[in-house]
Amino acid sequence: MKYDHILVRYGELALKGKNKKSFIQILKRNVERKLSAFPNIKVKAKRDHMYILLNGEDHEPILENCKDIIGIQSFSLAMKVENEEEKIKAGALKALILEEGQTFKITAKRPNKDFPISSQDMNQILGGHLLRNTNGWSVDVHEPDVEIRVEIRHDATYITSKKIEGQGGLPVGTTGKSLLLMSGGIDSPVAGYLAMNRGVEIEAIHFHSPPFTSDRAKQKVEDLARVLTKYGGDVKVHFVPFTEIQQKIFQEAPENYGMTIMRRLMMRISEMVAKNRDILSLTTGESLGQVASQTMESMHAINEVTNYPIIRPLVAMDKVDIIDISKEIGAYEISIRPYEDCCTIFVPKAPKTRPRREKVNEFERPIDFSEDIEKALSEIETVSFSASENESEEEFEDLL
Ligand code: ATP
Ligand code: MG
Repeated sequence: MKYDHILVRYGELALKGKNKKSFIQILKRNVERKLSAFPNIKVKAKRDHMYILLNGEDHEPILENCKDIIGIQSFSLAMKVENEEEKIKAGALKALILEEGQTFKITAKRPNKDFPISSQDMNQILGGHLLRNTNGWSVDVHEPDVEIRVEIRHDATYITSKKIEGQGGLPVGTTGKSLLLMSGGIDSPVAGYLAMNRGVEIEAIHFHSPPFTSDRAKQKVEDLARVLTKYGGDVKVHFVPFTEIQQKIFQEAPENYGMTIMRRLMMRISEMVAKNRDILSLTTGESLGQVASQTMESMHAINEVTNYPIIRPLVAMDKVDIIDISKEIGAYEISIRPYEDCCTIFVPKAPKTRPRREKVNEFERPIDFSEDIEKALSEIETVSFSASENESEEEFEDLL
């Protein structure tokens, strides 16, 4: 007898009355994509639970994958056995995975009243059976390390073991799409991940300045995008060539306002790409007070160029907490690779920490960026990353 399925519990989406059905469909799609390396499994989505039927696949790697999928609250290995006392006993024994010294509890339920043994008696019988057949384990009905649930239904008995916590959150794709301004730094991938937890599907945009920025810097951004796909969605990255624009800024604008103007151009171009792709918001890794470009004045000056909603999941977070998340999601080691990005290369010696809108506008007005922007847009290179494990091949496409 073996585990034959994984019982998946929905989180918050269970509360969303009207949208529930489409939320479940999207989660199902995300699970299927994520598990596409396991061809035999079958995903069945019901109103209250989802079942991943293993059909002979090894459960360990599938459980590992389930831990990453946003929108899954918790999950358990489960098994279906016939409604016979001996089979249920054998199943419960198999379901109990404990380390020595841990405690367990059996919770039997009997919605099927035709079954001759009451749930109370079943608890006794199964508890006794497990104690007799194991060593060093004991029962704790109040705070067990592991609870084995046995549900005797009409068609069969379902036994589920240890509950494994999932990511929680809303399934990626349920609340729309956002364009993530992604550098190779620590913050923006974390911002993308947190937005994904609210059901947001991410496309990323990255400004690079070859030959001043290297292929390795680009590779870094691609690897970070791959990290994000782990959590249940496909991610496209739009690489915008930014060299000429940056050179122009630093030739024609006062040096201390260069940073602000550069950020404003990033915002403008991002908004254009979003608009072309029917994306309704931008996401950044900005965190108030962290660096020169993230003062209140700076945000005020930069934000002037767009009226798109900007999602800033990190705005009020401490750097240490951001770093913790970065480590947890597997982005940190990539983010700290030392390759320079476009901002660090063209960084002015003394960027204005309190830029003013009137001043930026005054400095920007005489510089005509329109052709440069057109050119940058036409030269965007887009790389797609898939959530399916066995589909890591990159595909290129022209954007605009
Ligand atoms: P990060 O760790 O994400 O690089 P940061 O703390 O270095 O952020 P800034 O350099 O001020 O902060 O950048 C603020 C935000 O602007 C970033 O979080 C990111 O969303 C966006 N950004 C910065 N550089 C780029 C870039 N080269 N391409 C796309 N977006 C960028
Ligand atoms: Mg940065």
